Formats: sequence, structure tokens, C-alpha cells
Amino acid sequence: MIEGICKICGKNGLLSTCQICGVHACSHCFDNSMGMCKKCARKYKTPKFGKF
Ligand SMILES: [Zn+2]
Ligand SMILES: [Zn+2]
Repeated sequence: MIEGICKICGKNGLLSTCQICGVHACSHCFDNSMGMCKKCARKYKTPKFGKF
């Protein structure tokens, strides 16, 4: 983990690197269980219950 400005929300914090798009995202904008940012996680999560 690195410290810096989150590329998604613009706040300063501890950042993780998204494995998909390479963006540095803070813990709020990063899905640790999937190892990717929330933007990519949304793309990769296929809704199985048709909520969207
Ligand atoms: Zn963020
Ligand atoms: Zn991403």
C-alpha cells in the first residue's frame, strides 16, 4: 500500500492499486476482496438477481 491522493474520490489516504485499470484508490473506493477499484468491481460483478 502507498499513501497519496485517491484517483476516484480525490481524498488523501492509503491507496491500493487496482489490478484491472491500475488506478490508485483509497480504502473507500477499493474492493479488497476483489483486488480492484469499485469502478472495476462494478463492471466485473455480474448481478445474478437482476437488481440492476
Ligand atoms: Zn477514494
Ligand atoms: Zn479499476
